[in-house]
Amino acid sequence: MTFNYDLFVIGAGPGGLAAAKKAASYGARVAIAEKEAIGGTCVNRGCVPKKLIVQAADLALQNQMALSYGWSDCETYFDWTKFLNSVHQHIETIHHSYFEQLQKAGVELIRGDGTLRDAHTVEINQSEYTADKILIAVGGYPIKPNIPGIEYAITSREMFHLPYLPQRLAIIGGGYIGVEFASMMNAFGCEVTVIDQDETILSGFDDDIRIGVQEGLSKRRIRFIGNSTAKQIKYSEERLLLTTTGDSRKTIAADTILVATGRAPNTKNLRLENAGVEVGEKGAIQVDEYSRTTAENIFAVGDCTNRLQLTPVARAEGIAFVNTVFGKKPQKVDYEQVPSAVFARPEAASVGMTEAKAREKFGASVKCYCDRFQPLLSQLTDKNEQATIKIVVEGESERVLGAHMVGEHAADIIQSLAVAIRKGITKQDLDETIGIHPTTAEEFLLMSP
Ligand code: FAD
Repeated sequence: MTFNYDLFVIGAGPGGLAAAKKAASYGARVAIAEKEAIGGTCVNRGCVPKKLIVQAADLALQNQMALSYGWSDCETYFDWTKFLNSVHQHIETIHHSYFEQLQKAGVELIRGDGTLRDAHTVEINQSEYTADKILIAVGGYPIKPNIPGIEYAITSREMFHLPYLPQRLAIIGGGYIGVEFASMMNAFGCEVTVIDQDETILSGFDDDIRIGVQEGLSKRRIRFIGNSTAKQIKYSEERLLLTTTGDSRKTIAADTILVATGRAPNTKNLRLENAGVEVGEKGAIQVDEYSRTTAENIFAVGDCTNRLQLTPVARAEGIAFVNTVFGKKPQKVDYEQVPSAVFARPEAASVGMTEAKAREKFGASVKCYCDRFQPLLSQLTDKNEQATIKIVVEGESERVLGAHMVGEHAADIIQSLAVAIRKGITKQDLDETIGIHPTTAEEFLLMSP
């Protein structure tokens, strides 16, 4: 049977783009469909605009600190609308660059909403495209809890288009997305309240990291309501009233309510059943370790498979799929030591096992080294900011299973440690490494029990 393409990719986010370009480099005839903007969630309504907002917020925080560093008080004004325009202009340049990369690689970009007609046919705008292999990389969308008045709440998607900075922001959900927005918006002067179903935010991270971030944000006057969930939202006298239930039964007045309670795969309208592709919980596409779905020639990567929802993971899955199928070099993704960060202030980052996970797996042979200290940067100010560093080790050799940090540059520091931990370093390797002084990173080399 002859097909229009060797590979048809549905979804031009990080997973789909990486796979399309890699497959083309192996000489495959490739097309990629995109119904919205090229770059997916990451470029358009995730990592990229978020990190730019984090940087804008950092300038506000640095300005607050500048007095302690000898700068004179000066009038500042932040123009949110002007800033957002710059962010969106920058995103346009990324679109342009991605488009050129696809052209250079010989990948055909088809604009429109793809659905499966059968295991080898994708339908877009009433046209049919056949392919030997199909890759589904459709990502996910933010979900909202089903409570009265939820239509008044927005999701992370709309946060990047807010026409003004709210005076009072309530955030439902203390996962990394909710926490990052809490931190940024607080730096711009918004009064922020975070409601989380757990006692402490950032479920899934190491407990010392969760506590470190929550304490740091509390010092900046972000209010946390733990062990509670949103019950209803009412619109009244030009403001929103959010009622909580659980440990705290409160009514919070807000101008904007952000829901950050998780994401679900974008699989509802794909007509997967036409091709025999099965989905599991929340509509996540079921795949094996090579990203193959229940249909022999159809694969899925990234957020729509609900493994680890991170850009580098989606990319790695896309590349591993192509190496396996088009490069004839079977490759699995290693999910064990994937580093991740929370771009809050204080920043947090982690790689490998949390203390709790390590104890579950290795029991009494697990040991932790944990330090809390005031970094040099804040010693000159009246802010008693604290950094936390922690490593989790196991056995006589004290092999490092995980590293966790709260504090400045946590993401960059943990990124470097991730390579070493993947290579199986021990505590002694850290002890024998000479640091760069004065840095926070060197503290990882100076830890005592
Ligand atoms: P996506 O990036 O979602 O791309 C899927 C694409 O498929 C989309 O462009 C969509 O329009 C398209 N599509 C969907 N259905 C169809 C269809 N039927 N036909 C054609 N096209 C279709 N990750 C990090 O690693 N670091 C971060 O700092 C980070 N911050 C984030 C902040 C926020 C607010 C959010 C929401 C996410 C963040 N993420 C971050 C997660 C990251 O964005 C995702 O893990 C990543 O984008 C997943 O890539 P993907 O290719 O699987 O899907």
